[in-house]
Amino acid sequence: MPTLSKRTEGFTDSVIRRMTRISNQYGAVNLSQGFPDFEPPRELLERLAEVTREDFHQYSITWGAQNFREALAEKQSKLMGRNIDPNGEIVVTCGSTEAMMAAMMTVTNPGDKVVVFSPFYENYGADTILSGAEPIYVPLYPPEFNFNVDELEAAFKQNPKALILCNPSNPCGKVFTYDELKIIADLAQKYDTFVITDEVYEHIVYEPYKHTYFASLPGMWERTISCSSLSKTYSITGWRLGYIIAPKHIIEVAKKVHDFLTVGAAAPLQEAAVKGLRFGDDYYRDLQAKYTEKRDLFLKGLDDIGIVHTVPQGAYYILLDISEFGYKSDLEFCEVLARDVGVGAVPGSSFFREDVNHLIRLHFAKKNETLSEALNRLEHIRKKIVKR
Ligand code: GLN
Repeated sequence: MPTLSKRTEGFTDSVIRRMTRISNQYGAVNLSQGFPDFEPPRELLERLAEVTREDFHQYSITWGAQNFREALAEKQSKLMGRNIDPNGEIVVTCGSTEAMMAAMMTVTNPGDKVVVFSPFYENYGADTILSGAEPIYVPLYPPEFNFNVDELEAAFKQNPKALILCNPSNPCGKVFTYDELKIIADLAQKYDTFVITDEVYEHIVYEPYKHTYFASLPGMWERTISCSSLSKTYSITGWRLGYIIAPKHIIEVAKKVHDFLTVGAAAPLQEAAVKGLRFGDDYYRDLQAKYTEKRDLFLKGLDDIGIVHTVPQGAYYILLDISEFGYKSDLEFCEVLARDVGVGAVPGSSFFREDVNHLIRLHFAKKNETLSEALNRLEHIRKKIVKR
């Protein structure tokens, strides 16, 4: 038999998504893969029902339905502080997963280097390998997950083609300050590097932190490929609606990559989602309030149990310190946690370049009663998991 491709040997299946399957197998409360168990906004579902009876069942334009791009351009123009052209500066993709992959393939050649902060969302590892690029990892140091400017500049000196910026950050919950982003921007300028952003948690930021769009920094529009999605903002992770926003000449290339990868995102779902893109500011305020309540509820529960954890500034993930259990493998710990405690988590090692085995990630994008159930189960963690 001929051998299979070399490029697939460099990575495993997604541990995040594997943990969902393991959680389901043990009937655990699944706080591993980050998606909500509450309903999307009613108005979106009602519009979706209407759309099934309208004429949206064939391909949309490959780079996104006109109506969707116009609504998206209007929303993001206000947020990003510039007039985004719906006809030239947007590609609609199948989730930001495709957006990131298409962005990588748009800017890198095999052998090019790409700067990635560690910890990082696991897709970036596979994205770099699949596009033939080579990651240069730059550590973010807890508890604030700050980078060291000299280490970052040392990475830039290796002549990378791009830097990947997840802001707000999954899994560490960091919201980069304006000053930190300015440092990255100055280095991107100095070393002539692209910045590919993943901003899917743009609307999930806790007071007093504020999200700054990297593309809105002085001089950065030209070199930023902004990726995001509707998944987290409208609680529709299964709809797979994401997008790239960038200058026209970059979008021209991204359109080609996207067209041959997937042709297009689902037409009826794009049409229904326009309803959400046209929501007023109060929707985003309510979303923030809802997630703030969940975060506070969950953090208090963890504090009552006495587990050491991070406090997210944005996104909906918490890293828990499991050193006290003495496990060498955090993957094994997560399996035992799902089986014996009944809570699904993601091993921290799938996010860190460094040898980190004492952290696990939980998310709180769940109904309050689901979070309470998870906390009830976690209360018995020290009885159910024998220390090693
Ligand atoms: N971003 C989510 C997480 O980190 C998962 C996204 C996905 O599985 N596509 O859990």
